[in-house]
Amino acid sequence: MRLSRYFMPILKENPKEAEIVSHRLMLRTGMIRQQSQGIYSWLPLGKRVLDKVNAIIREEQNRAGAIELSMPTLQSAELWQESGRYEDYGKEMLRIRDRQDRPMLYGPTNEEMITDIFRSSVKSYKSLPLNLYHIQLKFRDEIRPRFGTMRSREFLMKDAYSFDLTQADAIHSYNKMFVAYLRTFDRLGLRAIPMRADTGPIGGNHSHEFIILADTGESEVYCHKSFVDFDIPAADTDFDSVDGLQSIFDKWTSVYAATSEMHDEAAFDVIGENDRLSARGIEVGHIFYFGTKYSEPMGAKVQGPDGKEHLVHMGSYGIGPTRLVPAIIEASHDENGIMWPASVAPFDAVVINMKPGDEGCDTTCDRLYTALQNAGKDVLYDDTDDRAGTKFATADLIGVPVQVIAGPRAVAAGEVELKDRKTGARETLTIEAAINKLT
Ligand code: ATP
Ligand code: MG
Ligand code: MG
Ligand code: MG
Repeated sequence: MRLSRYFMPILKENPKEAEIVSHRLMLRTGMIRQQSQGIYSWLPLGKRVLDKVNAIIREEQNRAGAIELSMPTLQSAELWQESGRYEDYGKEMLRIRDRQDRPMLYGPTNEEMITDIFRSSVKSYKSLPLNLYHIQLKFRDEIRPRFGTMRSREFLMKDAYSFDLTQADAIHSYNKMFVAYLRTFDRLGLRAIPMRADTGPIGGNHSHEFIILADTGESEVYCHKSFVDFDIPAADTDFDSVDGLQSIFDKWTSVYAATSEMHDEAAFDVIGENDRLSARGIEVGHIFYFGTKYSEPMGAKVQGPDGKEHLVHMGSYGIGPTRLVPAIIEASHDENGIMWPASVAPFDAVVINMKPGDEGCDTTCDRLYTALQNAGKDVLYDDTDDRAGTKFATADLIGVPVQVIAGPRAVAAGEVELKDRKTGARETLTIEAAINKLT
């Protein structure tokens, strides 16, 4: 992408409305634009990052055996009347009427709709286990939308729903998502800690919120420090192995971690002063086993091996991609701007032409740009007439992991400079060596 032809409306000043660094940086870099309270457009730079986050989420969901579909944002109120949640949900639900005066709503979540899809076509235990997911916009009329897309009213959610014959099978499905989540957040460059969360009347140990520690987080959390050293399950983890997944779950839930709603002061105090952490955190994911809560009122049953009808056991599993993007920035920035983890960076590298119009600079940059693109890299080519200082500041601000700097003197000697955004380390390499290194 040539910067001169791109749409990246960078702000010179820090926007006043932004209270936290991620919101400030997303506005400054032109990643997002607010359209009305808690409702955002994702501009091209932001969209690139969001797509990369979604791609990783999708890969890990698929690896764990979940199957993607797509459900609409607008739902009929009828389904929610069946489950009993139409009245219960309260003011967070945006209720709409169509021209026939039928009550509709903008979905805040999809348990009812997926249960309807399931009951209309699955009749036998032989079709189980089944886990269906989509990545779709949700709307919740939050009482206090704030921090940009961190807590917005319209936001993206990956929501998966599992269906099983028995509770034991449902726990295995739960563990699949638990492991998928550990891998997903790790690949996004985040250390997320699974914390026991409230399960409501169902009880048990089967709801976890995945929390990123950050001073600007809205949740109060308490945990053991040892999470930092836990190994992330490998890509070749056998998701069909019941015992294998259970042992990963057991390991990751063996030490204390709870949000304030579930906090047990006495259990926390047992941990030595040096090993415990009370901090703030951002909820980036939430997984939940809720048994027959929806299958019962909505009549989602399958025939079991015994020939009888059984209510299916369900779970739901959410991740917030549009919250993850600012959460990644909260975890990875400095005073000059964002430092994207390579896995989600909007571009893999930025080629900075220090003197457009200079034949050497132009030829060298074109060569680099073409070579990197041919190698499948996402490259931003700063071919603008901006001053050198502005170009460097922009490159630092938008946080592309590697900057390739082509100035007239270096280019004349057949060289370019590489700068690592995160460490600030610089090295001068021949043009061939630079291409080899980056492809
Ligand atoms: P919160 O406690 O922050 O209000 P929640 O518990 O209501 O979140 P869930 O119903 O568990 O959210 O939804 C699953 C995921 O969707 C959350 O873990 C979060 O990542 C994301 N999410 C929820 N609400 C929002 C929002 N208003 N803006 C952005 N992402 C959200
Ligand atoms: Mg909420
Ligand atoms: Mg919550
Ligand atoms: Mg939650």
